[in-house]
Amino acid sequence: MSPIVRKKILVKGVVQGVGFRPHIYKLAAAHALAGWVKNDAAGVTIEAEGLPLAVAIFIGEITLKKPAAARVDSVSVSAVRVSGVKNFTITKSGGRAPASAIIPADLALCADCRRELLDPSDRRYLYPFTNCTNCGPRFTIVKTVPYDRPLTTMAGFKMCPDCLREYGDPLDRRFHAQPNACPVCGPSVKLEAGGKVFRGPAALEKTAELLLSGRVGALQSLGGFHLACRADDGGAMAALRRAKRRPHKPFAVMLPSAASAREFCLVSKLEAAALASPAAPVVMLRRRSGAFEAAAPGLSRLGVMLPYTPLHAALFSLLGKKGFSGPLVMTSGNFRDEPICKDSREVKARLSGAASFTLSHDRPIHNRADDSVAFEAAGALRLARRARGFVPSAVKLASGGRPVLACGADLKNVFCLTRGPEAFLSQHIGDLAEPRNQDYFRETLSKLRGLLKVPPGLVAHDLHPDYASTAIARALPGKKIPVQHHAAHALSVAAEYGLSGPFLGVSFDGTGYGSDGRIWGSEFLAFDENSWRRAGHLKYFALPGGDIGALEIWRPALALVKAALGPGWRETSARLFSEVPASKVLTVERMIEAGLNCPQTSGMGRLFDAFSFIAGVRAGATYEAQGPMEMESLLRGAKPRGAYRFDLNSVSGRVEIDPAPAVKAAVADRLAGRPAAFISARLHAGLAAAAVETAARIAGAAGLKTVCLSGGVFQNRTLLELVTGGLEKKGLAVYSNRLVPANDGGIALGQAWYALKGYKEAA
Ligand code: ZN
Ligand code: ZN
Ligand code: FE
Repeated sequence: MSPIVRKKILVKGVVQGVGFRPHIYKLAAAHALAGWVKNDAAGVTIEAEGLPLAVAIFIGEITLKKPAAARVDSVSVSAVRVSGVKNFTITKSGGRAPASAIIPADLALCADCRRELLDPSDRRYLYPFTNCTNCGPRFTIVKTVPYDRPLTTMAGFKMCPDCLREYGDPLDRRFHAQPNACPVCGPSVKLEAGGKVFRGPAALEKTAELLLSGRVGALQSLGGFHLACRADDGGAMAALRRAKRRPHKPFAVMLPSAASAREFCLVSKLEAAALASPAAPVVMLRRRSGAFEAAAPGLSRLGVMLPYTPLHAALFSLLGKKGFSGPLVMTSGNFRDEPICKDSREVKARLSGAASFTLSHDRPIHNRADDSVAFEAAGALRLARRARGFVPSAVKLASGGRPVLACGADLKNVFCLTRGPEAFLSQHIGDLAEPRNQDYFRETLSKLRGLLKVPPGLVAHDLHPDYASTAIARALPGKKIPVQHHAAHALSVAAEYGLSGPFLGVSFDGTGYGSDGRIWGSEFLAFDENSWRRAGHLKYFALPGGDIGALEIWRPALALVKAALGPGWRETSARLFSEVPASKVLTVERMIEAGLNCPQTSGMGRLFDAFSFIAGVRAGATYEAQGPMEMESLLRGAKPRGAYRFDLNSVSGRVEIDPAPAVKAAVADRLAGRPAAFISARLHAGLAAAAVETAARIAGAAGLKTVCLSGGVFQNRTLLELVTGGLEKKGLAVYSNRLVPANDGGIALGQAWYALKGYKEAA
């Protein structure tokens, strides 16, 4: 007979609040093992005693059969003395706050809970707060660690005997499910509409009616309020756009099921998996022609999510019974990128003009979190916004060091805290020019610091002297480390992939402050172990009026056309600008000639804006990157034929890309009546070729084998795929952002890595 062994097993990763201990309990029972399991500071600790083979299989299955929402980072095993006990128990966690345990991110409604929710005989039929250890709110309700009910916003709800029984039974799906609730003991919904109040099932029923009739309402979700209405109702959509003051900006929609997503959009395997994942982000899908044009005018893609809370699922079930299976627009309940509203007081103060009814509930939101946004490009799923479902999961770094707070940039602000080799990015904060978002930054920083228990350390921030994020950084204690914007973009990729050693960073975006005080945005940066230098960029052009050029995109267009065609530009191309008042054209022309209020820029975003104007896509934008997004949409995935030429020149040791020949050719094409799609295709192909050639030249000269692509412009799928393919053909290894956004929402990770590794700009 084999001797009995006993092993101590330490499991690290996302293993608390995700049904891990019941999983271990069941495994131990299956293999007839004795011992115990408990949550502790580092994760989950197990002692298992039994036959050697059974213990070995048990250890393998800890990871193999882990719960869907768990993530196992490491399993370490050591032998301990056999005790002779016969049973297996779940031991109470130690009372002290864990130092490195991980707070799980919010989890979308699981299949088991969905089944119960839609089963008329179940005690939780249509109950909007149904959850279990595999699903439900986590980060958004956590006030402090450890993750235990009294320390969440569920503290005020006392479990009924039925819920308590589930909570205490190791074999139940709700064993230690902290937000466990039912209609008898849990939170409930409340509808306020037209001076009347409805509660419970009547509130949901009435909400469905109001939505069906074309009303716009505020709905409390997991991390904040949505403004919701039928996406197929022109009147409702117009009202919502008026109220949000967003004439064209795309709104995400929620569809009842994966099947209905496929009915309206083309869905790849990766996209389908993302839609159904526990994080349940908004996924940018290729829509079938004309589907819900009003939700995303002029764009080939539509942001789609599936019902991720039981409240959403119950609502869609009621709508379905009334014959409606179309999408609801679900856009953040806020204006102009302010923080998403998290309680009905904020809704009253800020959304009352937009929402004709409010469906709220009494399970408070402690941490706000917007919906995350994902898209597929170059064969991988990528994030454009990282918030609900992802925060506060860490990005693993190749190495650790002193704690760093990286403050991010001003647009799409996200900050980052490091703790050893882990980088914790905050949820999407928004545009810091908005003062409420500066408060949101401070509020979130203090909350995350508390949850993660990280002491203050180094403070990294953008090099821009006038950024609000820079001002916030300067007011904090600790050594300040200014980081050039595009160096941070490139390093966000290196940090994600744990790349060490020299590489070439290619950062394309709208704007970022350069080390020469100019506005950079098409940067080729050569990195070695701890320094970087600018090795190439787009030739500077004037940005008449500065930032206003991001919306009045005819301004950078005029500067580029004038520079490309020279003094005679009027004779050939003045009629391009016929939509712009002649007096404005004249003023801007004089500004350029006198160099008045004309900052110099190498911004790729602005170049794209200018080409979208030249192509005739639009004269002015109502949101950032509208022109470029519409330009890409015109391609509808088609491979470009022909390419505009960009000249590459060597200027003071750097490669400079001159867009003049491309601008000239695009102007000629437009004046010859070529369609915008034709111009867009040639621009994409030409730009990609120029980027590949520039990168290859620099990499060749410096002996670099690896290229990191980052910056918001690389959210353009066509460009990302063309540049990646072109560089790979040249034998280079190419990396681009997946875990954090390529836009400024991922820049804090690069800043943190810059500070940890002690990078400097080479003199
Ligand atoms: Zn569940
Ligand atoms: Zn209950
Ligand atoms: Fe940027």
